[in-house]
Amino acid sequence: MTAPPDRFNGRRFFASMTGLSENAVQQAWDAAKVNLAKLQGCARHQVEPPEETKAGMKLTCTNCGGTMGLNQISEYIRGYEAAGKSADDIWPGYRDTKRDVAL
Ligand SMILES: [Zn+2]
Repeated sequence: MTAPPDRFNGRRFFASMTGLSENAVQQAWDAAKVNLAKLQGCARHQVEPPEETKAGMKLTCTNCGGTMGLNQISEYIRGYEAAGKSADDIWPGYRDTKRDVAL
């Protein structure tokens, strides 16, 4: 008879991967769940256009208080536009900022 495998402990795993304490991992997880609940309960996200965008920055929705990364809000806007709406409803001037990007 073999011993049962150890139950996976995600808190311990992420603590070992990041160097954070298990308590800090738990706090981050709890904060992420609170943020997700805010975002999922929002009828329509809206953000104040930032002065400039930087990699890794997060924006806060003025309706729900949830925070989103730039990729997340960009995908949200794309979906909103695909439904026939204007990006300006979410991020005033959003499409104007995209005209400056040279590919
Ligand atoms: Zn929102």
